[in-house]
Amino acid sequence: MSQYDLSRPVVQQVREAADIVAVIGEVITLKHRGRNWLGLCPFHGEKTPSFNVSREKGTYYCFGCKKGGDVIDFVMETERLAFGEAVERLAERFGVVLPMASPEARRRRDEAGEITAALEAAQALYRRQVHEDRPRAFLERRGVAPQTVLDFGLGFARGEWRGLCDALKGKVAERTLLAAGLAVQGEDGRLWDRFRDRVTIPINSSRGSVIAFGGRTLGDDPAKYLNSPETALFSKSQTLFALDRAVRAFAKTERCLVVEGYFDCIALHAAGFVETVATLGTSLTEQHARELQRRVRRVVVCFDGDAAGRRAALSALRTLLGFDLEVRVLLLPSDQDPDDIVRREGSEGFGRRLEGALREAEFLVTEMGSTRDERRAALRSSLEIVDVCRDPVRRYALREELARAAGVPVEQLGEVESPRVVASGRVVADLPPPGELALLRAILIDLPSARRIEALRGVPPDAADHPLTRTILKMVAESAAAGRPLEISGLTSDIDERDVRRLLAALEHEAPETTEEGLQLILRELWERQRKKRLALLNTEIAQAERQGDSERLQQLLHEWLPLSKRTPPS
Ligand SMILES: [Zn+2]
Repeated sequence: MSQYDLSRPVVQQVREAADIVAVIGEVITLKHRGRNWLGLCPFHGEKTPSFNVSREKGTYYCFGCKKGGDVIDFVMETERLAFGEAVERLAERFGVVLPMASPEARRRRDEAGEITAALEAAQALYRRQVHEDRPRAFLERRGVAPQTVLDFGLGFARGEWRGLCDALKGKVAERTLLAAGLAVQGEDGRLWDRFRDRVTIPINSSRGSVIAFGGRTLGDDPAKYLNSPETALFSKSQTLFALDRAVRAFAKTERCLVVEGYFDCIALHAAGFVETVATLGTSLTEQHARELQRRVRRVVVCFDGDAAGRRAALSALRTLLGFDLEVRVLLLPSDQDPDDIVRREGSEGFGRRLEGALREAEFLVTEMGSTRDERRAALRSSLEIVDVCRDPVRRYALREELARAAGVPVEQLGEVESPRVVASGRVVADLPPPGELALLRAILIDLPSARRIEALRGVPPDAADHPLTRTILKMVAESAAAGRPLEISGLTSDIDERDVRRLLAALEHEAPETTEEGLQLILRELWERQRKKRLALLNTEIAQAERQGDSERLQQLLHEWLPLSKRTPPS
């Protein structure tokens, strides 16, 4: 949290003041080429330069790995900084004086600092107490090695009512203990410790600072686990346990393993699967998926094989596919968790099970039932899951695989629903195909805003394959209906701002400037594609009506089919 006001106009000022060529020129050697600068891409290994920088537009773009953005993105990416930190660094370097944040924003920042200090003080105390007999015996019994206790910072909260509150008295204010979720207020107004007689597990932010705790009872009480409540720093729907440790392994493993419990996660780390994270008693959320997508390509979800576990796996699969992550599903025998398996079968045994994890469609097919009728019936819900994929090629491949397993020709599956546009960190699969890029370049950059609407008259948004193109075409149509021009600044209302910036960078650098002639060609192609799609659908329906002898329906369909089969696109 920054002490400065980083509202949009302020950030824009920094963006304009920063010389993108100077900033990038410090990381790689740039050579002047026409209006742009060219160098070897810092994000992927290459021998011939394909990394373009435009000082005029303030953007960079790599033709090889398709990464692109503005000067702030570049600093975030190369120096691994958060957005605010990158803005502050650039402001300092290029002499922009940032205005101070509002008193309210400053109060929130100070509160966050106090909460962090309280959590750290609690963590220090809990860690000291973990060497006492009871927690040590418990951890030994569970097979947690002393080194693991140390690595994960496991601790112990004694069974006293006010052990922590008393220990921090005079050092941490009562309201901060409450705000940090470390204490609970009784009816008499007195505070008592939230975690009592439990092994404590610190939950870290992705950058490694303690933001909450989990607590495990030493016995087998019904309420075995207790988490910190939601606080200013901690939200369980956004936090993945051990992500701060797992990120270091992602570059090598190229995958992330997601399990459901702390101790499963800890056991897997100890067994060498250091790419493991755990959800904190919630299902896998979109925020979780976004965190993962920024860092890794493939996610293996490892859940219990009972009914609840299978449902959780289905829901996780849908969420992860929406972020174009590759997914593998590993279901474990319902009475065993990863901790048990590692203990019984060793790392090799668990590794073998991982090898056998099911691909997306394989898993969906096993969930569809064993007879062909059952499969046909279940096909619809499986299709809904794969249709959230943004990458059309992948979506089609998954549909095909499902159709084959269900014994239904893929053409009969019907139109693909337009998937939601979600934030993306990876761009490779995300950019629309070249034809659509050229169209977007024409309507977003080259054409005056009044002409955009006119040019697209009669082009249905669904004619485009890529969700981003469709969303933008839809926005153009809506603007037209409302009688106002479409402004680029308005795109961020429906599309994630980072996606918009990346798209614009790609358009500036990759798509050629559009001529009026070129535009007509693109529109004609879109129109033609839409016509063919509609015709294909009509053909199927006509065949069906023929089979059923439904002559009235047949007439209706032919009425639509006839002009469509002849008409040439508008010129
Ligand atoms: Zn590159």
